[in-house]
Amino acid sequence: MAYIGAIDQGTTSTRFAIVDHSGAFVGMAQKEHAQLMPQPGWVEHDANEIWANTEEVIVAALADAGIDRSELAAVGLTNQRETTMVWDVGSGEPLAPAIVWQDTRTDELCRRLGGEEGSDRFRATTGLPLATYFAGPKLRWLLDNVPGLRQNALGGNVRFGTMDSWIMWKLTGEHVTDVTNASRTMLMDLETLDWDDEIISIFDIPKAVLPRIVPSIGLIGRGRGVLEGVPIAGILGDQQAAMFGQACFNPGDAKNTYGTGCFMLLNTGMEAVASTKGLLTTVAYQVANGKPRYALEGSVAIAGSGVQWLRDQMKMIGAAPEVEELAASVPDNGDVYFVPAFSGLFAPHWRSDARGVVAGLTRFSGAGHFARAVLESVAYQSRDVLQAMEADSGVAMTELRVDGGMVVNDLLMQFQADILDVEVVRPRIIETTVLGAAYAAGLATGFWTGIDELRTHWAEERRFLPAMDSERRADLYSSWQKAVEKSLDWVEQ
Ligand code: ADP
Repeated sequence: MAYIGAIDQGTTSTRFAIVDHSGAFVGMAQKEHAQLMPQPGWVEHDANEIWANTEEVIVAALADAGIDRSELAAVGLTNQRETTMVWDVGSGEPLAPAIVWQDTRTDELCRRLGGEEGSDRFRATTGLPLATYFAGPKLRWLLDNVPGLRQNALGGNVRFGTMDSWIMWKLTGEHVTDVTNASRTMLMDLETLDWDDEIISIFDIPKAVLPRIVPSIGLIGRGRGVLEGVPIAGILGDQQAAMFGQACFNPGDAKNTYGTGCFMLLNTGMEAVASTKGLLTTVAYQVANGKPRYALEGSVAIAGSGVQWLRDQMKMIGAAPEVEELAASVPDNGDVYFVPAFSGLFAPHWRSDARGVVAGLTRFSGAGHFARAVLESVAYQSRDVLQAMEADSGVAMTELRVDGGMVVNDLLMQFQADILDVEVVRPRIIETTVLGAAYAAGLATGFWTGIDELRTHWAEERRFLPAMDSERRADLYSSWQKAVEKSLDWVEQ
């Protein structure tokens, strides 16, 4: 069997990719799903729509590649992390809309759960600060707010999962999650890789709803339906998958993914490095019967979704790629700064009281400056995170591997190199997330011999060298920091 398949269940779309032994894509299909925003701060997905799309893209990608499912040696899965859902074990029907990672409805609940100890109450065990981002508080919210849900859960009829669990349930009938996804719930102990009984009891979550935690790389079961009989053999959360697809296998390797949000991960090897600078400690991956590898992560909520906002709400562009042309219509930002704190600020600030600001407007400011400010905000936020990462790890970064939908934007990549004073390296394959999931499944089933073989697949496409003088870099960054200050303390808490 000559191919590996991978499902990428992302925030905005679901895709299925098929790769050959050299890691080249031979078939792909993708479908967007609805972003439901029933009230300010709420973001939901319809899990049935997502599953239907998953089946559809699998069939379409097999047709695109011109192959039969029997030619797939194995299939892996990667997914948007933290997005939380519950379903009925009997009917298999979702019991509420899935609460998406960006949703802020658990803000008040998170403060209550922190109590006097505050947002770092569970950090030592879970590696995470209490924030609306994570799955555990979302599950607690569902149990408290969906009529009859807690009762049903206590009766053993309810299953909880992030999107990996949902897709695996549909695909194999197993109720599982992998260690990388479980490490984003705030309910798992990073060292034991098991649910933490004390936290579960503080969160008041019936243990019967929780999935079994499995290694990222290992056989989970056989597929049903559109993947009937195919070994399903790997799960990685999307950012961990991107790191894997970028071949960041050594301690000290780092990547930054520019998609809906922006996520920088640094491989810290066998050591779960605790952060004092506002980063997350998370599981990078675990091979079956092996020791886990850890990562430090800086999560930025709004990156590409700022561009989507320019397109959908502000109507300044008709399609995402047009942002580059609009930004390039002016030589610089005209002193305009945009802080996209739509749902507060994530790393390294973790301020749920922040909201978006545009700072530095004058009569001279135009749409070009605005577009530039939106793009530049992604680079500045990445610098905030990179500095925190260097401080936490004590390692100075010399180059940064990048991937994700935004990295086709040369203007952004050059500005990123300029503002970081670090070389930015774009690989030939920027679809690293889905590739990482394929790698996981291929390694688990012996399709590839080991990570050394995978390393040989990685190739550089373009390197952006820093070209800004240090005084200008310092001036721009200092204005950005002033703009961030202005975004804080906006929402009364
Ligand atoms: P995700 O996996 O999070 O759904 P992707 O990696 O597919 O995201 O990236 C899509 C994001 O990239 C969208 O938010 C879109 O606005 C943004 N994007 C796409 N093309 C460009 C471009 N040329 N310049 C800037 N942003 C872009």
